[in-house]
Amino acid sequence: IRSDIPPVEVDGVSVRFGAINALSDVSFTVQPGAIHAIIGPNGAGKSTMFNVLSGVYKAAEGQVRFGEHRLDQMRPYKIAGIGVARAFQNIALSGTQSVAENLMLGRHHLTKAGFLAAGLRLPKATREGKIHGARIAEIAEFLDLGEKLHTPVGVLSYGDQKRVEVARALCTEPRLLLLDEPVAGMNAEETDRMAAAILEIRSALGISVVLVEHDMGMVMSLADRVTVLDFGRLIADGTPAQVQSDPEVIRAYLGS
Ligand code: ADP
Ligand code: MG
Repeated sequence: IRSDIPPVEVDGVSVRFGAINALSDVSFTVQPGAIHAIIGPNGAGKSTMFNVLSGVYKAAEGQVRFGEHRLDQMRPYKIAGIGVARAFQNIALSGTQSVAENLMLGRHHLTKAGFLAAGLRLPKATREGKIHGARIAEIAEFLDLGEKLHTPVGVLSYGDQKRVEVARALCTEPRLLLLDEPVAGMNAEETDRMAAAILEIRSALGISVVLVEHDMGMVMSLADRVTVLDFGRLIADGTPAQVQSDPEVIRAYLGS
């Protein structure tokens, strides 16, 4: 585990939409370098929690701390700037551009010349482009996309596109990676490949990964720790084995 990765401390967070308590007094900690799953039935508040972690929704009460930072008081671009990257559930890629071009967009904040200059092929951008090109190739390799760097994203399979979306997030060199339903809509083979990629991200990069997942089975072999939400409340928090045998969790899942 890298020494520059603090825990994420979610402390008494509540979010309301009118009369709906999307989250009620939720507290849990994501340990540095952990794969931490947030699971629960539809409407449990999983996406709301993600939107709080990435600054999209404001908490009515509570705090979210990431080292010295208060994520609950920061705007999304500031949160991205301190090393929190989010891969979106609905793929947010440019289909006509190649995998490499999409990954370069993930690095534009790291290039001094900026990605506009990269598009214009200015000399400084060319120099920087070589360095970033090497790292992009490495990350692509990592997610099994090495052969597809020059393929337009739009012609890739759904599973490949989802891994490009994760690669794009990794290209920002995050300390915390947020994955919103990374295997939603995938077949069994694509699911296995994504699970293997997530395990490799943790072991090779040593960063923390928080993933939201509807399907309980997928996270059980993957996560170190599982937080279970139901109707906006935290009903269990522990190891996969602990939450799997928790009567409240079983009831929440059977009732959905
Ligand atoms: P999950 O991702 O676990 O399925 P959500 O976090 O999307 O659940 O939703 C939790 C609750 O908050 C639901 O009742 C949902 O309808 C409500 N909700 C979420 N986002 C909004 C919003 N932007 N406006 C109003 N209600 C919302
Ligand atoms: Mg959701």
